[in-house]
Amino acid sequence: MKSINPYSGELLQEFQDHTEEQVENAIKNGQSAYLSWRSTPLSERASLMGKAAEVLRSRKEKYAKIISLEMGKVITESRSEVEKCAMVCDYYAEKSEEFLADEPIELPDGAKAKRVFDPLGIVLAVMPWNFPFWQVFRFAAPNLTAGNVGLLKHASNVPQCSLAIEEVFTEAGFPAGVFQSLLIGSDKVEKILQHPHVKAATLTGSEKAGEMIASQAGAEIKKTVLELGGSDPFIVLKDADISKAAETAAKARMINFGQSCIAAKRFIVEEEVYDEFLGKFKAAIEDYKAGEPLDEDAGYACMARPDLAEELYQQVKKSVDLGAKVILEGMEPEEGKAFFKPIILAELTPDMPAYSEELFGPVASVFKVKNEQEAVSIANSSVYGLGSSLWTNDLDKGERISRQIESGAVFINSMVASNPHLPFGGIKKSGYGRELSVDGIREFMNIKTVYLG
Ligand code: NDP
Repeated sequence: MKSINPYSGELLQEFQDHTEEQVENAIKNGQSAYLSWRSTPLSERASLMGKAAEVLRSRKEKYAKIISLEMGKVITESRSEVEKCAMVCDYYAEKSEEFLADEPIELPDGAKAKRVFDPLGIVLAVMPWNFPFWQVFRFAAPNLTAGNVGLLKHASNVPQCSLAIEEVFTEAGFPAGVFQSLLIGSDKVEKILQHPHVKAATLTGSEKAGEMIASQAGAEIKKTVLELGGSDPFIVLKDADISKAAETAAKARMINFGQSCIAAKRFIVEEEVYDEFLGKFKAAIEDYKAGEPLDEDAGYACMARPDLAEELYQQVKKSVDLGAKVILEGMEPEEGKAFFKPIILAELTPDMPAYSEELFGPVASVFKVKNEQEAVSIANSSVYGLGSSLWTNDLDKGERISRQIESGAVFINSMVASNPHLPFGGIKKSGYGRELSVDGIREFMNIKTVYLG
């Protein structure tokens, strides 16, 4: 397994994949760790999670540098990512006792019962490279605190991040086996899912990986949470603050150089304010400065892998060949290089990839619509349903429209962002299940009924 700097192409480090025997041992260790971890008092588990937050903060620079060098994110964003991981550890360290407290139930005949929350065991986490720390901590912070144990199969291009995350939990004092990183390819996942000690799986990644993991886990009757792609709409109505909407739209498309499931991807604008919005949006995107991943003032550096840049460009090219109008030109990536420049496309039709597919990088699709009904109809025409952003100065109208949008979240007058306090997840081809908040910590619990006769 190779760790390659996508900006320079330099080979940073090479790792031997874990053998079948090592994977089998990791499952055994995970299971024996689980048997004592589940009966460790919740307050102790929560306190260790608080220590994980301290480790993250004390080693922020080190981890931020690993992230930037391994997947090309600019260093300022990598630092924020590490801080956000510390925040989610603190959140579950503080809230888990409340979220997992027994809930009494009174029955109509006067009998009493309780809803209690027991952990399940080993949960396999198959994770992506785009937020290589955050995606993992979003799973690990609630689940380890709740008494489950984690086995991480990280994306093959971020092995250093994978090992660094294991180090965080070891340094924080978690018992051996509670969180383990496996350096394995995706072809090894099915066998792990079949292992009787592995009780459930969570995936953040592509629709294709989601189909595979859901069907393999389904064959074993094991629960999954899937956080897949998105093609989030960003709807701008004519009564919105257009300058603020355009500035936020640029940020929502450019964050992580566009490689985010909840990045705004389709900008749907009422015709009365379309020209004003497009002019300001384009100018705001052009303001982003290119640089190296470790440059303090760079707005973006490169994509995470050359094949991702090439694939994205092919989606653009096909759309333009079918008649899309180029508003901001970008560039064709050089073979074997991960450089890319932001692109804006308009005048899109459903046969174009820029209309119907997810564009996982800095390419914006802009739509002009006659009214809010048409805006909602285009927003809902996607196979995805992760997040959505809606801009209007009339909050009542915003709330009314939010109920018509098919997505896991609607942010009014704000970009979509994950936050430990808010449930996170999608519908349609964006997946199912929820992470974060109280919902996230209960996904992999046995919600047990105890009837008190
Ligand atoms: P993948 O879905 O291929 O990778 C995500 C994770 O899933 C990785 O750990 C990968 O392992 C694993 N994986 C891939 N295929 C399988 C499989 N058949 N069985 C088990 N595990 C599997 O994402 P890509 O890196 O190919 O990125 C491509 C697209 O994925 C993007 O364009 C975007 O649409 C989507 N994506 C969405 C993300 C999100 O945040 N929702 C994040 C990243 C990608 P390995 O690396 O070893 O292949």
